[in-house]
Formats: sequence, structure tokens, C-alpha cells
Amino acid sequence: MSAAIVSPRLMLVGGGSVKELAGMLAKFGLSRPLVVTDPYMVRSGLVRRCLDPLEAAGIAAAVFSDTVPEPTDTVIDAGAALLQAGLYDCLIGFGGGSPIDTAKAMSILAHGRAAGAGSHMRDFKVPVQADAAGLPVIAIPTTAGTGSEATRFTVITDTERGEKMLIAGLGALPLAAVVDYELTFTVPKRITADTGVDSLTHALEAYVSRRANPYSDTQALAAMALIGANLRTAYAEPDNAPAREAMMLGAMQAGIAFTNSSVALVHGMSRPIGAAFHVPHGLSNAMLLPAITRFGLEAAQARYAQAARHIGFALPGEPDGVATEKLADGLAQLNRDLDVPTPGGFGIDKAAWDARLEVMAEQALASGSPANNPRVPSKAEIVALYQVVWSGNQ
Ligand code: NAD
Repeated sequence: MSAAIVSPRLMLVGGGSVKELAGMLAKFGLSRPLVVTDPYMVRSGLVRRCLDPLEAAGIAAAVFSDTVPEPTDTVIDAGAALLQAGLYDCLIGFGGGSPIDTAKAMSILAHGRAAGAGSHMRDFKVPVQADAAGLPVIAIPTTAGTGSEATRFTVITDTERGEKMLIAGLGALPLAAVVDYELTFTVPKRITADTGVDSLTHALEAYVSRRANPYSDTQALAAMALIGANLRTAYAEPDNAPAREAMMLGAMQAGIAFTNSSVALVHGMSRPIGAAFHVPHGLSNAMLLPAITRFGLEAAQARYAQAARHIGFALPGEPDGVATEKLADGLAQLNRDLDVPTPGGFGIDKAAWDARLEVMAEQALASGSPANNPRVPSKAEIVALYQVVWSGNQ
């Protein structure tokens, strides 16, 4: 059976590459971009790093900055309406995963409406294949985390149903990406940690997934080595250029890995926490990662052991059984080093958590991600895992 490998058509990778943005647009014959970003990028002036090179080339870009972290269907509705006016020929998603995912979803929804294929974002959620999109998206990440610049996914919250929906298909794959680690120096410590663990989770889940293939393995292992060696440094020393560069490359490779394999149980259980309790995506992944990894260890011992060696938790010659224990312990220690709170420490109310367990487990299973896990859980096992995560006893 073949593995279907996808990636953007062009990726500019390296410090200062955002300065080449206008040339990239010209290559594709694009000249009327709508920049999709968030209010912080505008307030802080960071968006100028994207707008200045465009202006210098005579391109006056419009800006849509009414995006929110963990994007919602209502924001996508407003954004898609802007596109329907027909003034633009591409979207530039500039920011963390939230603005990039917003740009992707706007393109899918605007096209879906025009083509009569759907009028609401939920019309495109998995298992629907969202392969069609209208305007091409150029992704410029400013966090080293989601890998969204290289993935065929966008994650949008259904505000009526309180569900974080996974939308998957070629329609969500950017045409091109600019991956410039110099945009990440200003990322605050908490977000450096959360986004970094997000990318580590992508790489690990892609590697142990039932849908892993030889190509995704190369990307996942490379990403784990980069992230394992550099995440703590990037967290402790925000201005450390080699660490920031390695994290940006690792996040991108982790994105390539999971878009060509899949994510698994951590992501399946993470999205419902985000939707119910507004925990940032990377942070909910981090809360789950040690316990969910421990749950699957025996079902894919050799793979988990290899992951432990690449991340740097285990030595090359150590037997699989030793390496897998070191992986689970190492992930728990990493959370302590990165000051990852428990759900209670984050401020979630215990009664609210308990009341939501059944629904979260159902949403996790419905997303399809748990079915890719080396050990596929039942609903009762997912509920039990949420309880372990609450206890913080990982
Ligand atoms: P984010 O985009 O929500 O940004 C988090 C915060 O960091 C925001 O306040 C933002 O303004 C700030 N920020 C971003 N870049 C900064 C910078 N350079 N300097 C200072 N502050 C900066 O966070 P994220 O973790 O990058 O993205 C999370 C979203 O991505 C979630 O919605 C998640 O579901 C989604 N996601 C998508 C994919 C995918 O494949 N499409 C994969 C994983 C996660």
C-alpha cells in the first residue's frame, strides 16, 4: 500500500526568510494578499515583519486581525464573508497556529459556500474530506509549535456544540510557508513551553501511530532529536538563537511527520479539554503526554524506545524495556522542568472536570485520533486516563 505524502509546494526556511515574502508571492503570480493575524501581532508591531517586505515591493496588503486563540466558527464566518467580496487573491496566515488555522478555514468555508458544498464550518469536519479550498494560503508561523504551516489540518471550535472540530484535507494544506525562527524570539516562556511540547507530541504520536510510514518516520525522528535537545534551552534562554532555530525546524518537521502519518490519543483527548476549559492546545497536550504515553508503552515497545533514544531520555544501547520507562519518566520530568500545571493547578474546577468526563471521552473517540494509537482505548479507559491526569500522578 502506498503512503500519500503531502507538503506545501514551497517552504522558505531560515533566519530572515520573511524578508523574501514578496518574491515568494511573485513566483506564484499573487499580488493581493489578505494577512490574517491576531490583535497582539498588530499591537506589538510584529505584523510589520510581514507587511514591510510587501510594501517595499509595492504590495498593499489588507489585514484581518479579529482572530482569537483556538479559533471559533464565528470568527471564520466573519473572515469568510470578507473573502466573498472578491478583493483578494491569497491569504497570508501570520502568527501562531490560531491565525494560520483561521486563514485555512476561511479559505475552505468561502469556497464551500460558493460551490454549494457547505455553509458552516461543521459541514467540513472529519470524516468529511475537506480537499477543496478557494484562495491559496501562505503560512508564516511565529511560534515553534503547531507545524500548521505544513499540515493538511485546521482545528476550529464549534461554539454552539462546545466541540473542537478537526478539519482535514488538501484544502487545509498551505500553498507555501515561510519558516523564520527570528519571529519567535518574543514568544513568552509559557507559550515557548506549551508550543514546544505540542511539537514534541506531534513527532512522538506520528512515530508510534498505526499510520506511520517510512517517510513520516524520518521526519518524526529528526524532529524528536531537535526538540529533545533544545526545548529546555529555548524555555530558559529566550534569546538563544541556535535553540530557537532548532525548535522552529523541529516544529516544522513534526508537522510534516504527523500530516503524513497522524496524531493519536493525546490529541484526541486534548481537544475536548481545550473546548470545555479553554486550556491552550499545547498545554493540554503537555498535561496528558506522560500518562497517555505510559498507557501505550507495551503496545509499541520498540517504537517508544527508539523515540526515547532520539529525544535524549535513553542512551543508544539501552534495552527497549529500560528506554520506555525512561521515556515516560522523562516526559513527566520535562513537564516539571517546564512548570506545566495540572488541570487543577490551571484553575479547572474538579466538579466541572468530573461532570465533563463522559462527554470528553465521547468527543475524543469521535475525532478518530484514538484509533491511531498503538493501544486503542475504550471509552471507560479514556475516562480513567482523564482521572489519572487530574491526579497529576503520572
Ligand atoms: P496561538 O496561535 O493561539 O498563540 C498563542 C499566543 O501566543 C497568542 O496570544 C499570540 O498572540 C502569541 N504569540 C504568537 N507568536 C508570538 C510571538 N512571536 N511573540 C509573542 N507572542 C506570540 O498558539 P499556537 O499554540 O501557536 O496555536 C494553537 C492553535 O493551533 C490551536 O487552535 C490548535 O488547535 C491549533 N493547532 C493546529 C494544528 C494544525 O495542524 N493545523 C496543529 C496543532 C495545533
